Amino acid sequence: MDITRNGAQASTPTAAANFVGRARMQPVFAVGSPVRVRGGKVTFEPGARTNWHTHPKGQTIVITDGSGLVQRWGGPLEAVNPGDVVFFHPGEKHWHGAAPTVSMTHIAVVEHDERGVSADWLEPVTDEQYAGK
Ligand code: MN
Repeated sequence: MDITRNGAQASTPTAAANFVGRARMQPVFAVGSPVRVRGGKVTFEPGARTNWHTHPKGQTIVITDGSGLVQRWGGPLEAVNPGDVVFFHPGEKHWHGAAPTVSMTHIAVVEHDERGVSADWLEPVTDEQYAGK
């Protein structure tokens, strides 16, 4: 049994190349081999969002604070709020982020694949796409 104490792991800015706007990621758990699942708590500033991307093994996000938006490729913008849980299917192109004027925090749970990859990053979400146009 391992207990990781609150505050033991520093939060870091997310990779600017894969996000529009500012976000920070706080590791929650990352057990390592043979366990492939890990979790991170991500806080997006208002208007910030991921680029479009896919996850080879899918991804679950649990909204814990604020107000956010999610969208799958070809689907409508969906508002999400604390307590909502979203599963993105393996290979499903999507993005997630904060609402325009409110920050959003979610815990993201992903599993890495045989390559050690948990996300494949694509193009930024444009302002038009973010506005639902
Ligand atoms: Mn994702």
